[in-house]
Amino acid sequence: MRKGIPVSPGVSTGTAYCIHQIFVNPDTKRLEDSEVTAELAAYETARDQTAVDLNALRSKVESQVGGPEAAIFAVHLSILRDAAFTEKVRTWIVKDRLTAQAALHRLLNEYSALFSRTQDPYLRERLNDVQDVVIRLSAHLSDVPKQNTSLPGSLIVVAGELLPSQVVALGGADVHGIVTEAGSQTSHAAIIARSRGIPAVSGVSGILRQVKTGDAIIVDGRYGHVIINPDPEQLAAYRKIERDFINLKDQLAANRDQPARTEDGQPLQLLANINNAADAEAAVNMGATGVGLFRTEYLYLTHPDVPDEDEQLKAYCEIIDASPRKQVTIRSLDIGGDKTVPYLGHTHQEANPFLGWRSIRLSFEHPEFFNTQLRAVFRAAKYAAENGGKVKLMFPMITTLEELHRVRAIVRRVCQRLEEEKKPFLKPPIGMMVEVPAAAISIGDMLHAVDFVSIGSNDLVQYLMAADRDNPKVSHLCQPLAPPVLRILSQVIRACKRARKPVTLCGEMAGQPRAFTLLLGMGLRNFSMSPALIPTIKELATHVSMEMAEKVTRQALTLRTTANVKRFMSEQLEAMAPGLAILETQ
Ligand code: PEP
Ligand code: MG
Repeated sequence: MRKGIPVSPGVSTGTAYCIHQIFVNPDTKRLEDSEVTAELAAYETARDQTAVDLNALRSKVESQVGGPEAAIFAVHLSILRDAAFTEKVRTWIVKDRLTAQAALHRLLNEYSALFSRTQDPYLRERLNDVQDVVIRLSAHLSDVPKQNTSLPGSLIVVAGELLPSQVVALGGADVHGIVTEAGSQTSHAAIIARSRGIPAVSGVSGILRQVKTGDAIIVDGRYGHVIINPDPEQLAAYRKIERDFINLKDQLAANRDQPARTEDGQPLQLLANINNAADAEAAVNMGATGVGLFRTEYLYLTHPDVPDEDEQLKAYCEIIDASPRKQVTIRSLDIGGDKTVPYLGHTHQEANPFLGWRSIRLSFEHPEFFNTQLRAVFRAAKYAAENGGKVKLMFPMITTLEELHRVRAIVRRVCQRLEEEKKPFLKPPIGMMVEVPAAAISIGDMLHAVDFVSIGSNDLVQYLMAADRDNPKVSHLCQPLAPPVLRILSQVIRACKRARKPVTLCGEMAGQPRAFTLLLGMGLRNFSMSPALIPTIKELATHVSMEMAEKVTRQALTLRTTANVKRFMSEQLEAMAPGLAILETQ
């Protein structure tokens, strides 16, 4: 048994499907003579597809962002067309019988060795470009499981790290569990697993060397356990828990049409966090009353090139139509940190990406790009209003009041322009996300500049605790139930209530039973979470009275360690709602 970080609750038993990325565990298979031609053809197809991607990216980025930003794709195309590059790969496939993936891996090693001897930063940068091209090629040769994969039983994906776009690509396959070497509770891959209700464990170092495709494997997303080739007794025991988990989920999903209320009748808003239209449909099925966070960056991450204004408008309208009550809080582009798009200047590594050029900071420096998104959102807001829905817009990573003023000025200019062009639009309510400690501390001075607030606790926790949300080594610190986190959350909620500004929390903790109960006790009434968690939280709410929640929260706020808060809250929940523990990650 291996132990990792539990990131998405539930239990799943099945068959391992290993996704070896080129840098983790290269192909060692040697081709048969009869396979060489097909492998060369596969490589040529991947080259053609990569060239199509790069050309499309170049022209779209040129028109949408600018010539200098698009130049990088010309460099990548020239690498792709480089005769020496292609010749090496072909030769290794033919002479050494390497698979195309393995040949690419060897090529990258060769270049790395060559470049590592140079002190020239320009040349070192070129290695990154070669890497980018290899990653693109490799993705086209990729081994993401297809819907008709022939493995028996439910698939449990085992990977080094899953990029958000890969998890989206997994959507078509019947994936029942996810195990990764990297990542933690709030990495975006984990968030997607939760939104799909797929049990997942992250931070299991070296797992790809211990498991091979086809092995029987168990994922316990409650405790972060992964069991490889279990014995029959273990398998039978876990199959029973898996059945209970599925039954409980089905049973809870039956509460979708009931309003969310506490035991003593306090109405609550349970909203959904979504990344795409499929999630919006899941939100409806799970009984959400609206979308509290639409992460628009997935539109960019999964788009073959750059979505222009009309494409964005179309995508937003589709999301609005698919969402519960057509109510959607759209978040402006939140790129950077672990989510990068090359055409916005992220080809160069930053030393501290989460403290660097991400989110609203990046939007400010790409005014054309930012304006395009705002125009599409304002036009979509009009569409929503005409169809009985409502759009709100919020901005991530707000750190200072000056940034809010700047946002307001940009919003004004965009509205003016749309008016001049006589385009139908509506200016939506404008909100700020509180996810930087500076903003949380000075919230009282910022509230006058916004219509609503949404607390992004995933980032707020990582910044408060100075512990990377994606780094398993510091996940013991990146804890939403840490006493300083609870203290600051309670202050922000109180400040918003005092100023009569609606406040929601849209970080992952909103869907965690212990944290939910505490937030309820702090006075929060609007919670936005992965759709799959809504039925559990709705059920839990019916077991908790406001009086209980407030009492428990008062007590929890006096505790001085995270472990004590966790223990105390687990005991309280066990007493209030026994039987829901399977749906909590510990
Ligand atoms: C957050 O930080 O809590 C949040 C909701 O945003 P994201 O997880 O997309 O950074
Ligand atoms: Mg965030």
